[in-house]
Order: sequence, then C-alpha cells, then structure tokens
Amino acid sequence: MEDVGLREACGVFGCVAAGPWPTDLDLVHVLTLGLTGLQHRGQESAGIVTSFGQDVYQMAQHKGMGLVGQVFKEENILKPLEGNLGSSEPINCQPFVVETLHGRIATAHNGELVNASRLKQKILHHGTGLTTGSDSELITQLLAHPPPAGEPNGAEWMARIKQLMSYTQIAYSLLIQYKDAIYGIRDPYGNRPLCVGKLQCAIDDADTEDNIDNKGWVISSESCCFQSVGAVYYREVLPGEIVKLTKEGVQSLCIVPRSREVRSSFCIFEYVYFARADSIIEGMLIYVVGQMVYKVRQKCGEQLAREANVDADIVSTVPESATPAALGYSKVSGVPYVEVLCKNRYVGRTFIQPNKRLRQLAVAKKFGALTENFKGLRIVLVDDSIVRGNTMGPIVRLLKKSGAKEVHIRVASPPLKYPCYMGINIPTETELIANKMNCDDLAKHLGADSVVYLTVEGLVEAVQSGIEDLDKNDKGHCTACLTGTYPVELEW
Ligand code: SF4
Repeated sequence: MEDVGLREACGVFGCVAAGPWPTDLDLVHVLTLGLTGLQHRGQESAGIVTSFGQDVYQMAQHKGMGLVGQVFKEENILKPLEGNLGSSEPINCQPFVVETLHGRIATAHNGELVNASRLKQKILHHGTGLTTGSDSELITQLLAHPPPAGEPNGAEWMARIKQLMSYTQIAYSLLIQYKDAIYGIRDPYGNRPLCVGKLQCAIDDADTEDNIDNKGWVISSESCCFQSVGAVYYREVLPGEIVKLTKEGVQSLCIVPRSREVRSSFCIFEYVYFARADSIIEGMLIYVVGQMVYKVRQKCGEQLAREANVDADIVSTVPESATPAALGYSKVSGVPYVEVLCKNRYVGRTFIQPNKRLRQLAVAKKFGALTENFKGLRIVLVDDSIVRGNTMGPIVRLLKKSGAKEVHIRVASPPLKYPCYMGINIPTETELIANKMNCDDLAKHLGADSVVYLTVEGLVEAVQSGIEDLDKNDKGHCTACLTGTYPVELEW
C-alpha cells in the first residue's frame, strides 16, 4: 500500500468502569492505551472526554492536534480527566461536547453521513446554527431535537437515537456519553466496525487467574486494542443495534432496520487495508469469535495465487501491510517467501512528491534492497492495493537496479476505481491509476514484467468464506469503490 493512498477517517473507543464510584480502574490510561491501539485509523488529532460523579455528573475533556502520545503526554493533562467512564476519538478533535436541556452529552463517531448536506439544511431551517461543518456536530444537533410525538419527552435518549437513525442510515459507528452511560450505535447497514470487550483485569496482570473479575466494559472501532487494556473480545455491535454500557453491564436496547431490503454493507476495505491485522471482525454472537483480519488477508493472497500464478523463484512484499497476503500466495503457489526490502522504521509517512526524482529519493530513504536475497531471481511482489501508483514504480526500479531478473506485481485487492462517500478518503477518480491504465500499461509504467489484481469475486470469496452461516446472518459487504454499486442511493 502506498503511503499516500487511502486513509481511514477515525476510530472510537469508550470505557465504563464497573462497580461503585470512585473506581479503582485507571480509566484515563485505559482510554489512552485504547486510543493508541487505534492510532492506525487516524493520526491528525485525538480527544478524550470523561464523566464522573454519582447522581450529579461532571465532564472533563482534553483534545488536540497530533498523535495520541503527543496530545496526552503530560501528567497535568491526564490528571483532571480521571473519571469512571469516557470515550475518545482521534480526528477532527472529537469527542464533540454540547450542553442540552438535560445535561451535557459527548459524541464521537467514525464514518461519514451520506446525506449530510440535507441534514445540514434541516438543522439550519430549524433555526440552529452550525459552527464546525463536521458530521459530529450534525449528529449532536440532531440528537438534541425533541423525540417524535408519542415518545416520552425529556432525557429519553433511546427515542432520540432512534429518531437520529431514521434521519440518517449510513455510515457511522457512534458513541454517545451521557451521565453514567455510553450508548454504542452502529448504522443499520453496518458499514463501519464497532465491537464490545470485557475488562477483566488490571493491565499489567492480564493473565493472572486470581484477577479475572469484571472491571468494566470497553467499546471500540476495533478489537486490536483490547489486549493492551486488559480486555477480552465480547461481541460485535450488530448493524442497526443500539447498546448501552453502564457499570451494571452491556444491554442491547434495540435493532433499527435498514430502509432498503438488502444485506448489511460492511466496508470490505477494512479487511484489505484499514483494520489492524490482529483485529477480530464480524463476530456473530456473544463469545463466538469472528474472523481475524490477518487470516482474511492471507486468504486474499491464496486466492490471488489461484487466479494469477506466474513462474517465479520467490514471493515477497513491500513491508509490512501485505505480508499476510504474500504468505498466502506463497502457500498456494509453492513459491518460497523471501524478504527483498528492508524498511527504515524511523522514516515516517512520505507525502506526495511532485516529480519522479523526489519520489525515488523518498523510496530510497524508506527502503533498502536485500540484494543477496534476490539477485538474478524472478520476484512476485505482492501488495495489498495500488492507489495512485506513485510508490510502486520507484520500488520496482530499486529491485531491478539491485539485480532482480523479473518483478511481477500481484495486487491482493481489485482495482480501485470509484470514490467512497462513507468515511474513507480515496483520491479522486482521475487520480486513481486503475482509471488511467490497464494492467499491461500499468506494468510498463511501473517498469514491472506484469501486473495482475485480485478479482472482486475473489476478494468477496476470501472475506465471506470465513463467515459461518452467511445467509442466516444476513452479512453483506460494501464494494462500492471497486464496483461503483453503493449500498444506498447517493444524494447530491
Ligand atoms: S466504498 Fe470502499 S472504502 Fe468506502 S465503505 Fe465501501 S468498500 Fe469501504
């Protein structure tokens, strides 16, 4: 995957301590560790809101630009946040906190509302001004609307949340913090991920048998951060489901149906690239484990080898995100996996360079060639996706210059051709290399001997073959950026 390719918009994480207040759980550290585990989903900003007290609740917040470790590094920042529940989200300086008639609420969400402009007009016509232009503010203002006639008024959040979900059906995984509860909400199409974990023990002694009492609950975009906070995977929040986390436990309040009679539309690119490899996704039922992202990526590589095998001496990858796919390719093709590039881990993200020479220099700074591993050999180089095609060309040239006899590129996902309107930053259609050239032209452009992508059918098979009882569980996947078929009609 190129450094300047796709970008996930954000991740959300919330925690509720079990038992009476004050809690002995080091909540702020659980939250910062949880956020750090979701850092791959967004790097621009981070924020934490905590709520604490009994009967009368107060909120404290801190947010800022930068990585989690940069925003929450000072003891004097962490100290005032100490509470008994909190949620946090690392982009656009969420969570968003507003005062309502019934007290303060904080919201944090991952996703993008496809009908945001219509909702914006609705709010403005209602006489409410908007200050940030963010979907979080829209969500918060819609929540502040009185619930529909016939529903109980006042601080009846269920009615308000259901009303919000009737206004907008995709795409969000949302946390709402109010008094002593966190509500976790997943859009009815289930486009963005959200799962619940059980805090079992102190972080340092997560494995000791005498410390397995329930310490509380966490809710997160991904499960990859559970281990570091001392939590175990409990279950996925289902598409359209509203769950409530309190010190007493996790309660499923209801499931809001989809407006169209279609299967759910979980983002298939979470499996390809966004989610961390150790996350568990699409766990069906309580305690029944879903599929680990790493495993699915491996299956994509296996499928790729079935679809697009080529005579070669070694299989390799551009470190590190496509490693499971390369191993899968190697397993099915029988061609040995060998590393060809050494990554300088101290070089951060490389930005778009204006010309070929600067792009080559950026690659040279980031990768060194493990020449003795591949000199005179034919390499299959597996990558998880090609977006603009800016990085792959210099890498192929580096390998060829360092002695590779042939370089065949195999991409473990289909060509990206369409924009995403559900929260993923994809370059414009004209910037996507798959819209500019076919595989043969792309191979020439990159200096490679061949280029082949995984088919859409192959990707769907790799993802869905691991989901038990697919029909019964109504699981479907969004492939819109690959096929142009969106889960809902788009509004312009
Ligand atoms: S369009 Fe692509 S990136 Fe966006 S939600 Fe669908 S599969 Fe994911």
